[in-house]
Amino acid sequence: PQPVVAVVGRPNVGKSTLVNRLIGRRQAVVEDVPGVTRDRVPYDAQWNGRQFAVVDTGGWEPDAKDRAAAIAAQAETAVTTADVVLFVVDAVVGATDVDESAVKMLRRSAKPVILVANKADNSSIEMEAATLWSLGLGEPYPVSALHGRGSGELLDVIMDRL
Ligand code: GDP
Ligand code: MG
Repeated sequence: PQPVVAVVGRPNVGKSTLVNRLIGRRQAVVEDVPGVTRDRVPYDAQWNGRQFAVVDTGGWEPDAKDRAAAIAAQAETAVTTADVVLFVVDAVVGATDVDESAVKMLRRSAKPVILVANKADNSSIEMEAATLWSLGLGEPYPVSALHGRGSGELLDVIMDRL
């Protein structure tokens, strides 16, 4: 079976856009309704001749109720079944309390985590992303899922961890 990469993070940080970028297709639907991702189907991807699967998730929110809680639970399940986790943060917003809570959940999972600083559309945001070292997840990798900036470097890092 091919290795699985799960993509988690707050709603609206660009997880689905990043999944589309990683798989090179417009398949992980970027929903109009924030936090809604319809399925947990692993999307086939490849890089440098290696096959892997990418699982998109709905936005993870701590202490969420009802539907949001179900979405958060799905994200935790995705983490449990993943070989590597991409934890996506909004580089423009920086680390939030919700991001900090998600980090605790990720620590409990003991999975290898790659910190992705998304929405780094230009070099000044890219430099700002260094503040995300404070999350304690190691080096933040700045990318712009929307424009593709940094995505090749991120794929190289994913391959190193798989
Ligand atoms: P999700 O809720 O985490 O899956 O986030 P989405 O992928 O649905 O993206 C939420 C919004 O952020 C959409 O309007 C995207 O176009 C936008 N977005 C995603 N990635 C980037 C990026 O790299 N740069 C910018 N400027 N916007 C982005
Ligand atoms: Mg999404």
